[in-house]
Amino acid sequence: MSIAQNIEDLKKRIETSAKIAGRDPLDIKLLSITKTHSVEAIEIALDNNIEFIGENRVQEAEQKLPFLKGRYKEFHFVGHLQSNKIKQLMKLEPALIHSIDTLSTAQKLNDHLSGISKKQAVLVQVNASGEESKFGIKPEETLDFINDLSELPNLKVEGLMTIGMFTTNEENIRNCFRTLKKLFEKIKENPKVEMKYLSMGMTNDFEIAIEEGANIIRIGSAIFGSRNKR
Ligand SMILES: *Cc1c(COP(=O)(O)O)cnc(C)c1O
Repeated sequence: MSIAQNIEDLKKRIETSAKIAGRDPLDIKLLSITKTHSVEAIEIALDNNIEFIGENRVQEAEQKLPFLKGRYKEFHFVGHLQSNKIKQLMKLEPALIHSIDTLSTAQKLNDHLSGISKKQAVLVQVNASGEESKFGIKPEETLDFINDLSELPNLKVEGLMTIGMFTTNEENIRNCFRTLKKLFEKIKENPKVEMKYLSMGMTNDFEIAIEEGANIIRIGSAIFGSRNKR
């Protein structure tokens, strides 16, 4: 299967799911997750209607993005952010950081941003599945966490992100996504934060995520095939 064909098939599946859910497919942003894949593979994706790319490691993004300058519309960071990588990450000008989940890192990011007079759009990563191996704020702590973040003037919270439950049980996956959507609606009631993005759904569960209201889906394998070893 070619990357071009994969993208065409994926877009059809997104359209079908959106239709089933009574949604406009144009409201769903396809973020192509390019981790472990080569610059050449990413270029093929960019030549075939991919506009938004995401990486989960700062160092890898630093190595690849300079070769792709001007080719993509937005770069998003989706991995766990370590505070000692903030400076390098900011040089890559991410349009959105999906993975804020600790106050101390958020504060350090805010400090760095105020030093360079910039604002950064971020999402809060929520661990909606309760799996211990996952990063993210507990759903019941998310409101307080967002309140704390709203005190940081250089961060702009624009939504929530989650990684679906690692299971083949569709109902369990769906419940996670529903939890996140409910939180999203609840936080929307707070006039201090502008909830725009609900980032959920990957290759194995994006159709469920679209049915449950995702407006950013993060897709790697369905575009590039299985991942290369790092
Ligand atoms: C790797 C990754 C994805 C994409 O995973 P696929 O299953 O290959 O689609 C999405 N989100 C995050 C945070 C990732 O690390």
